[in-house]
Amino acid sequence: MARYTGAVCKLCRREGKKLFLKGDRCYTGKCSLERRAYAPGQHGQGRKKTSEYGLQLRAKQQAKRYYGIQEGQFHKYFLMAERKKGVTGENLLRICESRIDNVVYLLGWANSRAEARQLVTHGHFKVNGKKVDIPSYLLKAGDVVSIKEKSRESDKIKEILEANASRPVPQWLDLNADDCEAKVTAMPERDQIAAPVEEHLIVEFYSK
Ligand code: SF4
Repeated sequence: MARYTGAVCKLCRREGKKLFLKGDRCYTGKCSLERRAYAPGQHGQGRKKTSEYGLQLRAKQQAKRYYGIQEGQFHKYFLMAERKKGVTGENLLRICESRIDNVVYLLGWANSRAEARQLVTHGHFKVNGKKVDIPSYLLKAGDVVSIKEKSRESDKIKEILEANASRPVPQWLDLNADDCEAKVTAMPERDQIAAPVEEHLIVEFYSK
């Protein structure tokens, strides 16, 4: 299935919750969901009746949209999560969190996950000193992510870093802002993952 290229705020309105897809705007009164808290389309304000399957489907869609992951890849992550020790739903979120595009966003090196994905594709980052331009690259504990020396001089990157300088960084990432690098100290615990989803519903969805 092709990547969604329409208005991203419609995705939040469809899910009925903020998925934080637009950077700073999501935290202001300009957020579309705050202004129009109903689903888009002709029947968006109609009566809603959600089945158990519907809830599970929505939970999966919310996670995919939050991280900007396509169905095929997301299902692959689910199978990986199942094979790992521990709680499958938490493993799944941990895998999504460890994607380099997500980490670049969490470090404040991009205004949104979509922008992070584009910057990674354009080759602005390194992992352990080597260029990585695949947004789905999975980081592990001990990896060091950095902004390429040349990219640090780019006006766009400078602007992004300045705009996000005060954004809190999760504890599992040790950011050295001066050197534009960060170490993944450990994989995140569930309470360190901000994804607004009920992951057990996703597990139920795929376990049918
Ligand atoms: Fe979602 Fe952000 Fe748009 Fe609000 S502004 S609807 S949180 S993408």
